Amino acid sequence: MPTVNAYAATSATEPLIPVTIERRDVGPTDVLIEIAYAGICHSDIHTVRGHWGPITYPQVVGHEIVGVVRAVGSQVTRHRVGDRVGVGCESGSCGTCEQCLKGEEVYCLKGNLQTYNGLDADGTITQGGYSQAIVVDERFVLKVPDSLDLSKVAPLLCAGVTLYSPLKHWNAGPGTRVAIIGMGGLGHIGVKLAHALGAEVTVLSRTLDKREDGLKLGADHYYATEDPATFEKLAGGFDLILNTVSAGLDYSAYVDLLAVDGTLVILGAPTEPVQVQAMPLIAWRRSIAGSANGGIPVTQEMLDFCAEHDILPETELISADYINDAYERVLASDVRYRFVIDAATLA
Ligand code: NAP
Ligand code: ZN
Repeated sequence: MPTVNAYAATSATEPLIPVTIERRDVGPTDVLIEIAYAGICHSDIHTVRGHWGPITYPQVVGHEIVGVVRAVGSQVTRHRVGDRVGVGCESGSCGTCEQCLKGEEVYCLKGNLQTYNGLDADGTITQGGYSQAIVVDERFVLKVPDSLDLSKVAPLLCAGVTLYSPLKHWNAGPGTRVAIIGMGGLGHIGVKLAHALGAEVTVLSRTLDKREDGLKLGADHYYATEDPATFEKLAGGFDLILNTVSAGLDYSAYVDLLAVDGTLVILGAPTEPVQVQAMPLIAWRRSIAGSANGGIPVTQEMLDFCAEHDILPETELISADYINDAYERVLASDVRYRFVIDAATLA
């Protein structure tokens, strides 16, 4: 079994530290990927800090992974040694249920296998992308188009598809009014994607601090949610609102911004329950929904769409020994707009 360097959390409160971990031997349908870059998603922080419940330590997180194929199993047909590839939030599923057969592996009825903190078939806990290499079943390996800069593309594997998938599912495009709550890792990519799909895009951020960036990335309008006048002005104005906020919100205030038949999609995953008033939903047949990152076909479609439209995340490249500082800066919303770890610094 190959041993690789990684960065792991050892408890919910201590800083991540350098460790070595073992990867499984390459099985018949596996691909060995030498990781080049890994993004830092807010979900990594929720996970290692135990926000979503207790986990087993040590835990290597990271589910925005790109790199190069270095070995393939005897039955692998989709990928070749030397290919530029990516791995996202899931690296396994039953493959036979109704959802898997539709290419919605993330909604596998038997439960998908998370790229980290998942219970693998051999009883081990999966370990993610803050590491030098990973072994993944070829079905869960995405092709990274040649035109996309490998050092910036990693965040598309989670943040990108988490926004692209609901934009497509709820038919965002010309004539639709889309609002994105939160101008962070997810939110800023959502602005680029929704704009490229032809929607009218509004950012709802706490302040106007990032307004200039938002407009440059493709937003048509930008409002501060700390200003109560925003909610009066925008009432009833959106067909689709994508909430990317990592903390609880006054959801009823955002339901009031939906048009008739509009949908508020919850993407951010704080632990606080979602509470809303019933009558504003009833009166205008509005919906509240959730959405998880995306199945393999929509993830590949998103990567190809980004290549076609020249879309890449705004990133800050860091070395592995900066991960703990980066976490503090994500928690303080001091990131423009996604940290990406240079895996070469794990050597
Ligand atoms: P992020 O980069 O930290 O962005 C979150 C944004 O939320 C911040 O930039 C900030 O935007 C806003 N925000 C933060 N704290 C807030 C508060 N207390 N009140 C109001 N707004 C606040 O995080 P991310 O990586 O984009 O992830 C966002 C959330 O999505 C996390 O909960 C993550 O776990 C979840 N997630 C879900 C999925 C899924 O499959 N559904 C996938 C990936 C991530 P402004 O400064 O503009 O206000
Ligand atoms: Zn993520």
